[in-house]
Amino acid sequence: MTDRFAPPPSRGCSDTPVLKQRGQHEVFCGLTGIIWLHRKMQDAFFLVVGSRTCAHLLQSAAGVMIFAEPRFATAILEETDLAGLADAQDELDRVVGQLLERRSDIRQLFLVGSCPSEVIKLDLSRAAARMTEKFAPRVRVLNYSGSGIETTFTQGEDACLASMVPVLPQSAARELLLVGALPDVVEQQAVGLLEAMGVGPIRVLPAASVNDSYGIGENTVFALTQPFLTDTHAALERRGARHIAAPFPFGEEGTTAWLRAVASEFGVSQELFDTVTEAPRARARKAVAQASQSLNGKSVFFFPDSQLEIPLARFLTRECGMTAIEVGVPFLHRAVMAPDLDLLAQGPVIAEGQDVDKQLDRCRAARPDLSICGLGLANPLEAEGLTTKWSIELVFTPVHFYEQAGDLAGLFSRPLRRRNLLKLEAAE
Ligand code: SF4
Repeated sequence: MTDRFAPPPSRGCSDTPVLKQRGQHEVFCGLTGIIWLHRKMQDAFFLVVGSRTCAHLLQSAAGVMIFAEPRFATAILEETDLAGLADAQDELDRVVGQLLERRSDIRQLFLVGSCPSEVIKLDLSRAAARMTEKFAPRVRVLNYSGSGIETTFTQGEDACLASMVPVLPQSAARELLLVGALPDVVEQQAVGLLEAMGVGPIRVLPAASVNDSYGIGENTVFALTQPFLTDTHAALERRGARHIAAPFPFGEEGTTAWLRAVASEFGVSQELFDTVTEAPRARARKAVAQASQSLNGKSVFFFPDSQLEIPLARFLTRECGMTAIEVGVPFLHRAVMAPDLDLLAQGPVIAEGQDVDKQLDRCRAARPDLSICGLGLANPLEAEGLTTKWSIELVFTPVHFYEQAGDLAGLFSRPLRRRNLLKLEAAE
């Protein structure tokens, strides 16, 4: 099978000077990740150590799921003075003791830090170590920060997964680790394609249950499915595992390149690779062609939010015919992003971090056909006649690999079609 993608650009964005912004930023905090992480890890419980604001955020973000048997909660610490810290530790021990007594299904407990000053002063890693000792072997207690001061909304998943890496046992087995919390159906598609090529054994981080635990070591190779997992990447490398660098599996091209990188690592022949991927590639091509008709020739501007911006800009420019004006990312990790940056043709401003007012000015001046941004910026931009897409939807919707490629293009084309319909109605 021959590749039908545009050739790599003669100059990609890898050497493009980066516009570094260090001002006010508008993003959700890392607590948001609990909403998708608790669905993946069936025996985990997330206890946010936070304030009423954190509890409200979780409840409104979780929406209807609050009616299900909850596997997350907020231990609310009121603002007290420093002398109250010992009490706070006692209070946390009491809450955790009650929780674990009531819920025998919990095998992994995550203490999740947040912003309030009292919480920042609490040493949650010591609390987690103390509780692990007390509740082992039934429950493993870990901690990470979801604080909005330290994390954007996707970094919560990264911090969570990174916290799990040091407690994985040592192993000399040669295994592939897929890293990232994908919806089950998408994960099964990826594993199915790789197994059809004879790649394996395949492990997944996060695993559905603590019982699915596996070891890690110098013979482990890992592939990231999400571009925001940079701390997890570092934690895995510290354990001796080796990263398989690849563009991220968005769209037909990204998926093929990602699969090819993994297949090459495991010595899969070109013939077998083509046999396994030919049919899903054809379906993905057709679906993207249909869904991207209204994207062709349009311009796009990314505000930094999800950390998915660079791979998505690559997908939209190379597979959907769009032009990228600015691609903003919360932070730029070269080792993880290089394969996507190489494929993204020079032209857009690559910006790291945010100074929201300056960026809004650049967006207003450019008048892009589509702006990808957080919820807080979407309404003001829409009111100014700009069409927007909420970046948070890209994390809540299945968008990876071949079978979702058309849906991914559709997520971007829908707001443009809606805007056109509104224009037509207004003209009638
Ligand atoms: S962690 Fe911080 S930003 Fe997130 S809800 Fe709590 S107080 Fe707000």
